[in-house]
Amino acid sequence: MSELRLRGDLDAIPGYKPGKAAPQTETTGPVHKISSNENPYPPLPSVTAAIADELATINRYPETAATALTTELCARFGVEPVNVVLGSGSVEVVSQLMRATAGEGDEVLFAWRSFEAYPMLARAAGAVPVMVPLTADHRHDLDAMLAAITDRTRLILVCNPNNPTGTTVGDAELDRFLSQVPAHIVVVIDEAYVQFNDRADSPVGIEYFRRYPNVAVAHTFSKAYGLAGMRVGYAIAPEQLGIALRKVAIPFGVTNLAQTAAVASLAAEDELQERVDALVQERERIVTAFAAAGITVPESRGNFVWLPLGDTTAAVAELLEHHGLLVRPFPGEGLRATVAETEANDRLIALAPQIAALLAPVPVAG
Ligand SMILES: *Cc1c(COP(=O)(O)O)cnc(C)c1O
Repeated sequence: MSELRLRGDLDAIPGYKPGKAAPQTETTGPVHKISSNENPYPPLPSVTAAIADELATINRYPETAATALTTELCARFGVEPVNVVLGSGSVEVVSQLMRATAGEGDEVLFAWRSFEAYPMLARAAGAVPVMVPLTADHRHDLDAMLAAITDRTRLILVCNPNNPTGTTVGDAELDRFLSQVPAHIVVVIDEAYVQFNDRADSPVGIEYFRRYPNVAVAHTFSKAYGLAGMRVGYAIAPEQLGIALRKVAIPFGVTNLAQTAAVASLAAEDELQERVDALVQERERIVTAFAAAGITVPESRGNFVWLPLGDTTAAVAELLEHHGLLVRPFPGEGLRATVAETEANDRLIALAPQIAALLAPVPVAG
C-alpha cells in the first residue's frame, strides 16, 4: 500500500485527546465525567422547546447571516453586525482568528499551559505556536509574553480565566499589557468561562474591544449556557477583522438549531445565572475542602479546579477514576476537575484526604 501524500507539517500536530467518555461498566455507583468542563444541568425546557420547533426546517441550509442571534448580540454589546462573527463553537472562532491572521511561519503567541486546542489549531493554520510558560503560581506571565513578541507575531491569545488552571488576569495588568502590544497585532481575549469569573477587578473583554482597535473577544454557549452539544460561539471583533474572519469561516458552520438554542438561552439568562451561581458556590466548597486537606489549589474563577500534582498526577487520576470520577490529567503537571453535579463534587471532596496522602512525602525510616 502506498503512503498518501499529505501535508508534511501535520506530523507536528499531536492528535486531540477528547475527555474520557463515561464507560458503561459498573463501579461503586454512577461514573461522572468531569473531564470536559461541561455544564452538569440538563438543558432548560424553554431551550429544548425552541430547538424542537426549529426541527421542521432542517431540510434547509442555515441562515448564514444568523439574523436573530446577531441582532440580539448587537443589542447586548452595542456593536454592529459586522463585529459579530459566529462559529461552530468558539473553538472554530479561535481557528478563524488564527487562519485570518497567521500565514505560514507566522507566530501565534499564548500562555502555556492553556487551552489544548491552541497549539493544534495554530499548527493546522500553518503558523508557529509560541508558548510562554505560566508563572510559578499558574498565571499568565504577561511580561514574558510581551518579551516574546517578534516581527512574525500575528495573534496573541489571553485565556481569561485560563483553562486548565482557572487563574485570571486582573484589569490593571491587562491594560498595561495591551498598551504595550504593537497596535498591528490582533489580541483575542478568550472568555469561555467569563460568567464564572467573580474576581472583583476582572477586566471586561468587551470594554477592551471598545478601547483597543486590535482587540477581539471570544465567547461560547458551551459552558455557562450548557449548549456544548449544539456547537455555537462567537467573536466580537473590529470591523476589518470581522470581515476577514467571515472569509475563513466554515460555510454554514452554525446550524439553525444552534442559533435558535443560543437565542433561547440568552432569553433565559436569569434562570441560567442561578445555575452559574450554584456552580460557583460548589467550586468554592471544593476549594475549601481541598485546602482543609492540605492541598493547595490555585484560585479558580472557572467551572473547574486545577490540582497541581506534579509527578503524583497519574496516580491521583487513577484513584479518582477508580472511584468513578473521570478527570483531565496532564501527567507530570496536574489535573483538571470540572465542578459538576453535587454527587460528583461530594465524591471529589471525600477523596481529598486520600489525595493528600498520595502527595505527602514518604517518611524516611529511622
Ligand atoms: C471550552 C473552551 C472554548 C470553546 O469551546 P466551544 O465548545 O468550541 O465553544 C474556548 N476556549 C476555551 C479556553 C475553552 O475552555
